[in-house]
Amino acid sequence: MFRLKLHWQILIALVLAVVFGLATGRDAQILGVSFYSVYDFIGTLFLNALKMIIVPLIVSSIITGIASVGGTHGLGRLGGKTVLFYVTSSLLAILVGLVLVNLISPGIVDGQPAKELIGLSDEAAAQAQEKVGSAGAGSVAEVFIRMIPPNIVQAAANGQMLGLIFFSILFGFFMARINEAYAEAQYNFWQGLFEVIMQITEFVMKFAPIGVFGLVAKVIADVDHDQLAGVAATLGTFAATVLLALAVHFLVVLPLLLRFIARVNPLRHYRAMAPALLTAFSTASSSATLPLTMECLEKNAKVSNRTSSFVLPLGATVNMDGTALYECVAAMFIAQAYGLELSFTTQFTIVVVALLTSIGVAGIPSASLVAISIILTTIGLPVEAVALLFATDRILDMCRTAINVFSDSCGAVIVARSEGETNVLTDNDIKSSGKQA
Ligand code: ASP
Repeated sequence: MFRLKLHWQILIALVLAVVFGLATGRDAQILGVSFYSVYDFIGTLFLNALKMIIVPLIVSSIITGIASVGGTHGLGRLGGKTVLFYVTSSLLAILVGLVLVNLISPGIVDGQPAKELIGLSDEAAAQAQEKVGSAGAGSVAEVFIRMIPPNIVQAAANGQMLGLIFFSILFGFFMARINEAYAEAQYNFWQGLFEVIMQITEFVMKFAPIGVFGLVAKVIADVDHDQLAGVAATLGTFAATVLLALAVHFLVVLPLLLRFIARVNPLRHYRAMAPALLTAFSTASSSATLPLTMECLEKNAKVSNRTSSFVLPLGATVNMDGTALYECVAAMFIAQAYGLELSFTTQFTIVVVALLTSIGVAGIPSASLVAISIILTTIGLPVEAVALLFATDRILDMCRTAINVFSDSCGAVIVARSEGETNVLTDNDIKSSGKQA
């Protein structure tokens, strides 16, 4: 039977979601049930199914990944390359953002800081304070304290992935060093768990088009058209700057790294990762997308399980190019709007803090807002200014999350190729379609 490829199914679902979301809005009903609640129901089911897999996936993939990398030497090499790529790509992303925000200056209108134009209402300011305050973001140090959680079960329950990753790395490392009989039993157990989880992922992926429809239709139905007109007038340039910078990173910087470092065809890689990118876009959560990212990378891009199971879970939590770029552009925008003098030192501080906080930001929707508040505090601006970003946050979050996921996958391909993996992106299916491209 003729079957459309998954990414086409998801794309069609996206288009239908926009049409339905616009047509029904929040209030339209059918048989006494609002369409909105149906979208919400479907979207939540899909998101829950993805989230349900995350904890066992991260733990089992990292433990087996680390244990199979073997000795301290192999681990050090793989870890070193991974961290080097992640820091470099995030830094490049921030620099793209920095250059464009300086060129376009979205926070300055007719030579004047745009603070008055944007008009920060007291209500919005209070809301921002509450949101940021409740997330408990005080300093960069606190972000890193979360890396070593006092209670691993609690960390897993609260979605503190950095803590979970740190524990799993230790577990995998020492697992390979115990008595062989026990080590083998442990390895088989975790490998088995990992394979079961991947099967569940494949099953959940079949529902991706329906889930994406629900998630996106809800976002579209939520859009307040009056607010949108206001946003276009004030925040439009800011949003355009972010989108342009993300596009440059996605379409120029990362493909160049793929081409010249990994020596693979970027077009094939876009195609291999399409379902994961579209899901990242719809869910605005790189953690929730992790199962799909892993599936696409192993099945379509042919990266080995050894590499992907180490590089990806780490990337989904610590490597966020889109987020780092967004944090930098947003902080610069607010600084411009407040008329702050943007000296070299201030800009340098923004770059460094954006890089550090992007590591600690959780892969969940709107997590950047907390990180931006840290940057604002560091450069001496009021945290409430984060409220300026609310109106455009969702759509920009969807885009930056797709970039976050794409960068993780590029990291995995580059590390895999540098480890001598020759199968990467040479799958027949992709090869033949790549030839046409
Ligand atoms: N939503 C983003 C992610 O999950 C994080 C952020 O930038 O808010 O990757």
